[in-house]
Amino acid sequence: MFKKILIANRGEIALRIQRACREMNVKSVVVYSEADRDAKYVKLADEAVCIGPAASALSYLNMPAIISTAEVTDAEAIHPGYGFLSENADFAERVERSGFVFIGPTPESIRIMGDKVSAKQAMIKSGVPCVPGSEGALPDDPKEIVKSARAIGYPVIIKAAGGGGGRGMRVVHTEAALLHAVQTTRAEAGAAFGNPAVYMEKFLENPRHIEIQVLADEHKNAVWLGERDCSMQRRHQKIIEEAPAPSIARRVIERIGDRCAAACKKIGYRGAGTFEFLFENGEFFFIEMNTRVQVEHPVTELVTGIDIVQMQIRVAAGEKLPFTQRNIQMRGHAIECRINAEDPYKFTPSPGRITMWHPPGGPGVRVDSHAYTNYYVPPNYDSMIGKIIVHADTRDQALARMRTALSETVVEGISTNIPLHRELMVDAKFIEGGTNIHYLEGWLGQHKR
Ligand code: ADP
Repeated sequence: MFKKILIANRGEIALRIQRACREMNVKSVVVYSEADRDAKYVKLADEAVCIGPAASALSYLNMPAIISTAEVTDAEAIHPGYGFLSENADFAERVERSGFVFIGPTPESIRIMGDKVSAKQAMIKSGVPCVPGSEGALPDDPKEIVKSARAIGYPVIIKAAGGGGGRGMRVVHTEAALLHAVQTTRAEAGAAFGNPAVYMEKFLENPRHIEIQVLADEHKNAVWLGERDCSMQRRHQKIIEEAPAPSIARRVIERIGDRCAAACKKIGYRGAGTFEFLFENGEFFFIEMNTRVQVEHPVTELVTGIDIVQMQIRVAAGEKLPFTQRNIQMRGHAIECRINAEDPYKFTPSPGRITMWHPPGGPGVRVDSHAYTNYYVPPNYDSMIGKIIVHADTRDQALARMRTALSETVVEGISTNIPLHRELMVDAKFIEGGTNIHYLEGWLGQHKR
């Protein structure tokens, strides 16, 4: 096992990784920007090194600063968390070339999955069902593009090959709007992701977002750890996640889960990963793979009892997975609410000083957050300040537990989306379960204030 790991991230996930290290008796080095100087995990760290100013480009995305910090602190491995450099194949390569272990898959895997066109091609080859769409990236020839859309059938969605974070997508309902949409998405993709390639997919009208968590080691073992339902989204961004997915037959999930694990073996995948699917009319359609730990990993940890972050570290150190598929069992139901520092209905960011932070507690309640009373939420980063996750025997009990947890939570000094979560937890349709990816936006439209 490693003696020391560098954590190349911030916020709640930096704290989460730090906790995993501590339990494994591994020392951790935290890198931080000037804006995160007062973060508690920075103070709690075995070692902490300031690597630059608030702007991410100069700190959390600053590869030479991170790698040289690993050098001077004698860290052996680098955990990238999520976001920032976690899915940057060049970074993974530079980490390895500098003699450190990248806690994640190989640079090749990241590169293939980072380009959604090559990811889909790899999945088709591995027998994972995909959303019907263009064969590879769209060509320049407008006639070919029109032909492609006709073959797929409207509505279609134009997506950036290098897209992420719910950006770089455009739905097209008619042929008249097609070419302009392709052009605009290309231009945006070029500017935002440095890759103007776009592709086309059938736009599924009422799907749910269901994803499969996988874990693989470098000894050809791969397992899947059940599914998560992440259909409660706004602007393609998840805000509530749960496991298992309500009212989908286990054998249907098992079939897709086994295919994901088989695909991992086929592509030589290593580490934790997530296969994201849209699920409509009883069928799964692959949309993308995330080659890192996800924000919503705790719901899977609670239902399987497996520490995903510790497993990432173990397999990066060359260990074999300590279980096989037969040992993995899902118990009970878990729900996660992402707590964002934002206006609950207008969604404008609300950074600033938290004057009162009172997290919930009790049986089956987990809070992953770096916030505390008097913590200053910097305006420079993502607005998520933590997650409340509950676990209970049944979904109904988990809902009741989440309602209690949210009612206990007090955050003052800034606005958060907690009031929105409180309303959603008593919404009849959400309680019923199985809402699709458009449900939340429709709900918000009806509950305008
Ligand atoms: P990102 O990498 O930006 O998260 P994804 O490909 O994972 O992009 O898509 C994000 C979300 O966009 C999905 O969860 C879904 O809500 C919507 N979406 C993507 N592709 C389609 C599609 N073909 N039909 C309908 N919705 C889609």
